Amino acid sequence: MDIALSPAETAFRDEVRDFLAASLPEALREGAARTPSVFVEPEIGQEWNKVLNAQGWLGYQWPVEHGGTGWSPTERYIFEKECALAGAPGLTVLALKLVAPVIWAFGTEAQKRFYLPRILSGEDYWCQGFSEPGSGSDLASLQCRAQLEGDTYIVNGSKIWTTHAHHANRMFALVRTDPAARKQAGISFLLIDMAQPGISVRPILTLAGDHEVNQVFLEDVRVPVSDRVGEEGAGWAIAKFLLENERGGSCHAPKLGYDLDKIETAAAQEPDGLGGNLADDPQWKRRVANARLGVQSLEMIELRILDGIAKGREPGPQTSLCKLLASNLRQEVDGLAVDLYGAAGLQLDPARPFYVGNTAPLHSPEAQAAAARYLNSRAWTIFGGTNEVQLGIIAKTVLGL
Ligand SMILES: Cc1cc2nc3c(=O)[nH]c(=O)nc-3n(C[C@H](O)[C@H](O)[C@H](O)COP(=O)(O)OP(=O)(O)OC[C@H]3O[C@@H](n4cnc5c(N)ncnc54)[C@H](O)[C@@H]3O)c2cc1C
Repeated sequence: MDIALSPAETAFRDEVRDFLAASLPEALREGAARTPSVFVEPEIGQEWNKVLNAQGWLGYQWPVEHGGTGWSPTERYIFEKECALAGAPGLTVLALKLVAPVIWAFGTEAQKRFYLPRILSGEDYWCQGFSEPGSGSDLASLQCRAQLEGDTYIVNGSKIWTTHAHHANRMFALVRTDPAARKQAGISFLLIDMAQPGISVRPILTLAGDHEVNQVFLEDVRVPVSDRVGEEGAGWAIAKFLLENERGGSCHAPKLGYDLDKIETAAAQEPDGLGGNLADDPQWKRRVANARLGVQSLEMIELRILDGIAKGREPGPQTSLCKLLASNLRQEVDGLAVDLYGAAGLQLDPARPFYVGNTAPLHSPEAQAAAARYLNSRAWTIFGGTNEVQLGIIAKTVLGL
């Protein structure tokens, strides 16, 4: 694997860098920096989507025929890395990276024509209805029932931990269409219009007090059969495709490296209580160096996966390794930020969102968000499949144990 950029790739990187310098509004950069979660609020995320869409770059992982850039895996990586280094808001993963590839890989022509442009235009905001109370790691045990009546499914059940369901007008969901079949075989993949009677969304506040996830109740919800993706009973295969993208479709290392850079810079200004700066403390240096090595190793693994994709291979189960390492590193880096700011880093400011300036930051804007971020990052080792589940996948499919 050659990791040096070619002259054409260097020119592309410069083009992206120039665009970001000129087009990323400071308010969005600040909003992203002061968001505790990996998911930015729509008022930031959708605004940034509009800027990228106007440039024709929002579908940066999409094929040209669906309105995307058609960029190579290396170009996508350069784009993601430059966005991270510029402090740009995270993109709407659920729509752009999860449901869109499912629609173009498994959907009908009518579904592609209808749904894909609405993701790029921002008309639709998607949430993911997979987990249920009692079905998380053992997702195939899900119970949400869809019964076909004529050409309409009637859906009854509940979904939980549904990120941004309170903002979404669409949900992609796994439902049980055949309770008699083997559990994986009885599952189908539906696209559900959230703006209809029978759907209610109940907030669940996270450890830090943020409203990010929800429980969604579905009572006699109607879904036309034309909004089923793939054949009836094909939902499990589609979910596996989607989860591989969820676990490995992104490059986490650049953002982690960016956050680590900021922490290192700030540590040079933070007193260590002994007349020097925290940056000179040997224990601190050891922790930062460890995290740095972890980020660099993760970047090499992410690049190897990209190299495989460029050679026509699927992301594959080694994406579980990326998810595992990225989750642990996220928690390590956010833990460093809390320790960096001492008592100020421990204070959990209840104001939300931080970026509208509704309270004076404690110590600094970074310190104000540190505790909320630290608590939020606990979720990394749970969502998208827990660490233990990733370890199980790695043991079985990567190591062949
Ligand atoms: C912040 C957040 C956002 C989320 N967003 C969404 C979303 O938008 N849409 C969605 O559908 N879901 C979402 N989830 C749900 C997430 O995917 C599940 O929480 C996750 O899959 C774990 O399931 P569970 O919570 O039911 O825990 P369980 O599966 O009950 O696990 C409990 C414990 O048992 C361990 N365990 C379970 N099975 C095994 C095993 N086979 N081997 C070893 N250990 C095991 C787990 O590692 C864990 O420690 C979100 C979760 C969080 C925290």
